[in-house]
Amino acid sequence: MGRIQFDHLTKQFGETVAVEDLTFDIEDSEFLVLVGPSGCGKSTTLRMLAGLETPTSGDLYIADEHMNYRVPQNRDIAMVFQDYALYPHMTIHENIRFGLEEEPGYTEAERDERVEDVAETLGIDDLLDRKPGELSGGQQQRVALGRAIVRDPEVFLMDEPLANLDAKLRTQMRTELQRLQEELDVTTVYVTHNQTEAMTMGDRIAVLNDGRLQQVGEPLELYHAPENQFVAGFIGEPMMNFLHGDRSEEGFVGEYIEYPFDERLDRSVGDTDDLVLGVRPEAIDVRHADESASQSLGPHEFRMTVTVTETHGDQNVVTLTHPEDEANHGAVCAVTDGMHIVNAGESVIVTVEPDAVHVFDGETGEALC
Ligand code: ATP
Repeated sequence: MGRIQFDHLTKQFGETVAVEDLTFDIEDSEFLVLVGPSGCGKSTTLRMLAGLETPTSGDLYIADEHMNYRVPQNRDIAMVFQDYALYPHMTIHENIRFGLEEEPGYTEAERDERVEDVAETLGIDDLLDRKPGELSGGQQQRVALGRAIVRDPEVFLMDEPLANLDAKLRTQMRTELQRLQEELDVTTVYVTHNQTEAMTMGDRIAVLNDGRLQQVGEPLELYHAPENQFVAGFIGEPMMNFLHGDRSEEGFVGEYIEYPFDERLDRSVGDTDDLVLGVRPEAIDVRHADESASQSLGPHEFRMTVTVTETHGDQNVVTLTHPEDEANHGAVCAVTDGMHIVNAGESVIVTVEPDAVHVFDGETGEALC
């Protein structure tokens, strides 16, 4: 079936290594999201799968068959791009049917029937006589999907298919695409640079940076156990806070903050000197400080000053600095419950529990825990 294997796959354009030594498998029927910043090699990977680029070295298999040199028409894949590329002079029916153009073995009546089935699945069966110009963006995107699924391919490749839709429609189409993928049960490789899309849609996510695979895993695995600082910073919104510092006998010492380690942190960090402490904004507890007394603080509590509070309704995003950090070098972001409002200028007490702390090797970026 539609299992995909990347075996030390590399693609170079002259001096530029677009994809380097990519090695991992995508299981049959899996929804795999390929995510990473601009220029990290996502589209090149997808284009190699589609047969639009030939790998420089390594091997690519789809359904156990070697694909490196096979032409796109013989790959049994269907691709959906961010621009829908519909033919404006054709009706929706003709546009979807165009997906079957190269497919042998269908009678004329079967082709029409197939188009109608697909249109029904996508909820566009009442639009079949219209032209693309008479459809909304979301409807056009459904037609583009229809043209891809009408062939019943082994693999779907999607390159930012929702990028041109407005925020509300994008959220709606995400759910719809997931439902569709489950229903059709077809291996899907979905490219995006949007980490929210990756987190909400993928069975697994593969994170790329600079042509190299950083980590592949289930969304929550990447969120809770990132293997390096890049993945930790890329997955999660607002992004993880990073504090640079050194190993001390008790734990971590940064410019303004000392953080004693518990046994888990102490053991995992060992004697690595150069450290980066990582804390997710949602793992920081913020409470009003008692102005009147000099409250004594626990080992994992800090007095900080609120510089900005952004109110989002269900939650607030709060920016904090250490009172001595006048230049605001080490601002930290925290997320609080929507009902819990702290104001700019206010002094607060911040708690970070050790089990919510990640530590990275400051030199290599590798996660120590
Ligand atoms: P984006 O999110 O911006 O689309 P991407 O992650 O899809 O980026 P790619 O388009 O795969 O990235 O590009 C990876 C690298 O390869 C980039 O440095 C890019 O400039 C380079 N590259 C891609 N295609 C070519 C080409 N045809 N010739 C030369 N360099 C290329």
